[in-house]
Amino acid sequence: MAGTFDISLDSLAGRSVPAEDVSSECLSDSLQPIRKDRKAPKTAPCATGMRDGATFFLETFGCQMNDHDSEKVAGVLLSRGYRQVESPDAASLVLYNTCSIREKAAQKVFSRLGEYRTKQAAGQVIGVLGCVAQQEGEEIFARAPWVSLVCGSASYRKLPELLAQVEAGHQRVTGLNNDTDETFETPVTRRDNPWRAYLTIIEGCDKACAYCVVPFTRGPERSRASDSVLKEVRELADLGYSEVQLLGQTVNSYADPSSRRMRFSELLLAVADVPGMRRVRFTTSHPRDFGADIVAALESQPKLCNHVHLPVQSGSTKVLRGMVRTYTRDEYLEKIAMLRKAKRPIAITTDIIVGFPGETEADFAETLSLLEEVQYDALFSFKYSPRPNTPSLSMPDAISEEEKSRRLAVLQEKQRGIQSKRNASMINTMFEVLVSGKSRRENQWSGHTSCHRVINFTSQEQNLLGTYVQVLVTGAGPNSLAGEQVT
Ligand code: SAM
Ligand code: SF4
Repeated sequence: MAGTFDISLDSLAGRSVPAEDVSSECLSDSLQPIRKDRKAPKTAPCATGMRDGATFFLETFGCQMNDHDSEKVAGVLLSRGYRQVESPDAASLVLYNTCSIREKAAQKVFSRLGEYRTKQAAGQVIGVLGCVAQQEGEEIFARAPWVSLVCGSASYRKLPELLAQVEAGHQRVTGLNNDTDETFETPVTRRDNPWRAYLTIIEGCDKACAYCVVPFTRGPERSRASDSVLKEVRELADLGYSEVQLLGQTVNSYADPSSRRMRFSELLLAVADVPGMRRVRFTTSHPRDFGADIVAALESQPKLCNHVHLPVQSGSTKVLRGMVRTYTRDEYLEKIAMLRKAKRPIAITTDIIVGFPGETEADFAETLSLLEEVQYDALFSFKYSPRPNTPSLSMPDAISEEEKSRRLAVLQEKQRGIQSKRNASMINTMFEVLVSGKSRRENQWSGHTSCHRVINFTSQEQNLLGTYVQVLVTGAGPNSLAGEQVT
């Protein structure tokens, strides 16, 4: 409906919002922090029988990029004849795909490894994948000698050969190079969601934000050729997926390595043109590379979801400079103005870090005033967490944990008020919803709107999962909407 939009406040790409120090892990719907440890969703079928009887358990920590990497790792294993199981006790290979964006996330992995030590069965192989693997490298063997495989995401191309070494009984197998210019494409991807597919179009990051481990753990930026992206989107449509989410730490820095040299905005339009695709999302966008051509694409093509996640990190130009974010508050606000002027209403969400070294009370007040000015639809907020190898580790004027917690609480309270008002203004508005959940309560369903807001709604109809329905909003809280299906 004109003049409104919809955004998932309580489940943006699987994350809880707003969260107190959403305590883990990377991409936004900002390649982003998801606060959960996810186990295998269901038992997957055995593929080729190459490894008769071999089973794997894969637990994922962190962002959507890790989720999707896990889907691809599962594809590699299934094509080697492994069968996926739901419990580590039942697996011959136990893999943890890890996150190190904040200290708590990284610690969680070591506590999981510690917990598992006593349970490890004879012959069972344990592997650590992802950002903690890349960051800690062989140190993991010293801290957890029962681990046999350590592999960072930039080396996943080599997974089949690393697995072959593990299968041959090698005790210390590593894949830690991150100087590759290859992306991780697999012939088989075992996707968790039957309607929405993740698709990584750019891996790694060439930015150098002073607080961030991603450039160290995921390696340099590598974009996937547009032809290969589009081929996979067509395959997804043929498989019945109607929504695709293009992923990258800085998705809009996409640089087509093929001779077509497609711009990111052109790729968005080409993906939306694939018959059968009904919704296209992308995350995370970096403000510096966010141009008018992307807004024009969103205006012209309704299949492009009307939501942009544009992490600001701080409202203070001084802090942004310390963070090496490469834009000022005013430059960021120019991007917001561009989005607000779009012909379609576009929901805007962001990430904010509180307590970066040297952040004064006045700097923090600027962040609060930015919230007031922008009126974000959702916010992912984090306490600054010092990370290994990053420039901010040695910066003076650290903020105490107590003060960081206080600022986080103030920030979240402010955002809660903004969301309450924005949501209340949506009552009596109609949204198209992709139905993705059925409650145990009779006639209760849930789904996502174009801007990824979750709506819980009632309907007398059956078999709605995976379909698109019209829902009238009848109630709103700070974090979600309620409604009823309109036929
Ligand atoms: N590439 C995205 C961007 O530039 O905005 C962000 C990806 S990052 C993996 C997800 C979010 O984690 C960041 O936007 C930031 O808010 C948060 N984050 C990253 N490093 C952090 C740190 N050291 N402490 C606290 N939060 C951090
Ligand atoms: Fe990290 Fe900055 Fe790259 Fe985002 S742009 S992944 S915050 S270095």
